[in-house]
Amino acid sequence: MRYRTGFCHALCACVMIAAQDVHAAGTPSPLPVTMFVPGIYVHRGHDDVATRANGGDIANVGFIVGTRCVAVIDTGGTAHEGRALRASIRAVTPLPVCYVINTHMHPDHILGNAAFKADRPQFVGSSTLGEAEASHADSYLRVLHRELGALADGSEIIGPTLTVDDETTLDLGARKLVLKRWKTAHTNSDLTVYDESSHTLWAADLLFVRCIPVIDGSLTGWLDAIAAIRQMNPRHIVPGHGPFDGRWQVGLDAEQAYLAALARDVRAAIKAGKTMQQAVDTIGRDQRRKWLLFDQYHARNVTAAYAELEWEQ
Ligand SMILES: [Zn+2]
Repeated sequence: MRYRTGFCHALCACVMIAAQDVHAAGTPSPLPVTMFVPGIYVHRGHDDVATRANGGDIANVGFIVGTRCVAVIDTGGTAHEGRALRASIRAVTPLPVCYVINTHMHPDHILGNAAFKADRPQFVGSSTLGEAEASHADSYLRVLHRELGALADGSEIIGPTLTVDDETTLDLGARKLVLKRWKTAHTNSDLTVYDESSHTLWAADLLFVRCIPVIDGSLTGWLDAIAAIRQMNPRHIVPGHGPFDGRWQVGLDAEQAYLAALARDVRAAIKAGKTMQQAVDTIGRDQRRKWLLFDQYHARNVTAAYAELEWEQ
């Protein structure tokens, strides 16, 4: 019993220190980043939904350094995380932040933008990003404050000042990034960043590794995007969620297998006259052990797939 009490005290102390750090005003500690390839730094988000414990830090975010300036790619789930990411940039280089690129509309990728306002960068996104953000702004911010409380303070949606309709190249100085807008896949505002010098594709949420893919756009569009990524055959891929251990083919294969099986089984259910609820109750249950966050998102994926595919009959 004594040990247990002692353990509890130690644990409580740790939690309090963590909470104090998260609440601290001013410049937070740098967000841990890994040099993925020379000049490309990635922070590994928690494999979870946003909670007070993880502070909304659930997406892989990071930055790319040229000889002239820095491009941030996604800013995290809160202004606090954005400031921590900015601190990690400052630990690496004094070069200015000239671009803040948002890969899509989801709050865990965009709500740290406010941390970079004073840098006066171009905020870059798909040509559909601004409208997608505007139509979800109220709900994203309401949910953020509900789930994170004071940790959400200062977070805001800052829309793009430079939009990509098809493809655009940004030059960071001796480093060219090719930004590509995709047709609706994970969401209706997906944008990828390809670093020509290292042949690295920052795929963001077009690739989920270990964490279950979440369909908020189009299942068939996403399968098309996966085929196109294979055609591009990049040397490296940075996923939006999950580990980046260099074996992106394994991750992309698993994602494709999950989405393709979902499409196949939902089409069969619709053909057999099953209702959406019957589809949700039966399809893909055997995938549960393979994916983190299955219980949070799988039923929603079946529902989204059913709503999309019932119109193609
Ligand atoms: Zn996303």
